[in-house]
Amino acid sequence: MSEKVFDILVVGSGLSSLVFAEEYLKKKNNIDIISPNFKYKIKTEMDYNFDPKTLPPQFKKNFSKIVDYFHFNNLNFDKKNCNILGSLEFGGLSNYWGLQMDKEANEDLNYFGNKAKKEIINCFTEILKEKSLIGNFGTYKNSLKINNFYENILKKYKDSKKLIIEKSLIAINKNNKKNIKKLNPDLILKKIKKKVTFHNFFLKKISKKKNLIFLHCIRGNEKRIFKTRKLILATGTLVTTKLIMDFLNIKREVPIKHHPRLISMYIAKKKILDNTKLTAGLLQIKSRKKNETFSGDLRPSNKMILNMAFKIYKILFPLKSILMFFKDYIFFSNNLMGSNFSNLYIKKINKKFTIFSKNKETLKKLKRNQKKIYNFLRKEKIIFPFFKNFFPGIGADYHYYGTIQAGGKKKLSVNKNCQLLKNNSIYIVDGSVFNFKKNLYPYGYVLANSKRIAKLINR
Ligand SMILES: Cc1cc2nc3c(=O)[nH]c(=O)nc-3n(C[C@H](O)[C@H](O)[C@H](O)COP(=O)(O)OP(=O)(O)OC[C@H]3O[C@@H](n4cnc5c(N)ncnc54)[C@H](O)[C@@H]3O)c2cc1C
Repeated sequence: MSEKVFDILVVGSGLSSLVFAEEYLKKKNNIDIISPNFKYKIKTEMDYNFDPKTLPPQFKKNFSKIVDYFHFNNLNFDKKNCNILGSLEFGGLSNYWGLQMDKEANEDLNYFGNKAKKEIINCFTEILKEKSLIGNFGTYKNSLKINNFYENILKKYKDSKKLIIEKSLIAINKNNKKNIKKLNPDLILKKIKKKVTFHNFFLKKISKKKNLIFLHCIRGNEKRIFKTRKLILATGTLVTTKLIMDFLNIKREVPIKHHPRLISMYIAKKKILDNTKLTAGLLQIKSRKKNETFSGDLRPSNKMILNMAFKIYKILFPLKSILMFFKDYIFFSNNLMGSNFSNLYIKKINKKFTIFSKNKETLKKLKRNQKKIYNFLRKEKIIFPFFKNFFPGIGADYHYYGTIQAGGKKKLSVNKNCQLLKNNSIYIVDGSVFNFKKNLYPYGYVLANSKRIAKLINR
């Protein structure tokens, strides 16, 4: 056992961890991060040109990384009824795609209380500014330009009572045209790496002794216990939930919030042109009704997306040259639903934490909402009367959150400063502490909250 007692230790190397570290280091000289870094490698500057490396491993039929994540974390999922993703690479899920952010925050942040809510929104704006991300939010303006046909639709629906049609916020750094980079873990690490000590270990279990937190870690056959006064847990919702359920000895089944997803393909009548050349959702279509939360978006296809589709759906291969020629007219859309439609649970069964789903209605509900998006697209003469839906499975939205919510009263809750109610030396800074009912692309707010907690600790 190492005798050193740390003041503060961060676990995880995803964006929620690195955004915390970056903010913390504005006032402090160094920080220690525990992360297994199975493939630890500081990449050279990554131009965001859709390098296939940025695709989730299962899209490339590379399952070994996913298997490692579940095996080492003692997690299991019922493959018959859900499809979950996790990554132990440096950067975690934050490496993959993750381009779009949703401005909506009003209702979803209420349980943090007014003061914290305001601070989270301020931190969100700070992230947009510091990283020069694309889009407009409050006083922040870094416009995403699209062609007039679509701008006119935006104007037409400005005061609609049924739908919100808006341009997205996109996590692409755009200082100038040549220098387009995705907000990814490498980008932050490059800035702070001299002040970070990485401990290449894997966290198995948390325990406490008096006012210290003990982190039981492994690396191959080596075991080590790290002792710390403050623990910042940023291992992503699934692992954080498992570690805390184990720590608090919670036996009941815990619902995991997420945004069920259906992918649709449409054939457009008019190209959507923008100033980024990216495959992000450029136009977001959402319901304005209070008790209805769903969204669809418009994202034009490109070479990379089509090549991926040919790999997955071999039947399309003979059409390759035709589809490539018309690629700008092929639109993909993510249809997402709010957290009320969540359908994932975690429970310890026979010493293993298992994730499963129950509700058989999810796909039916997704299709019902997709039909509303389709009707809108037809009404506005955006598409031809054709669509093809692809259901990636329950949990294949990769937005996991809401297991240890802020402002709750249950054992499995954190206070407004994201300290675990049962042990205020443990801070949780990933998605676990949120419930995104309205916001359907939430990681901007997860990062904003992580930044807020770093500021709070620095005070
Ligand atoms: C393909 C894809 C597209 C997405 N698109 C969007 C989008 O457009 N908009 C949006 O809002 N969100 C999107 N998301 C979700 C978003 O990427 C995640 O919400 C975000 O990356 C979560 O970041 P995180 O730092 O909290 O967790 P992660 O990125 O999951 O990081 C967790 C970290 O913990 C480490 N770790 C795990 N277990 C252990 C352990 N036992 N011990 C030590 N370390 C451990 C991992 O190595 C990793 O470094 C997408 C996700 C995917 C996969």
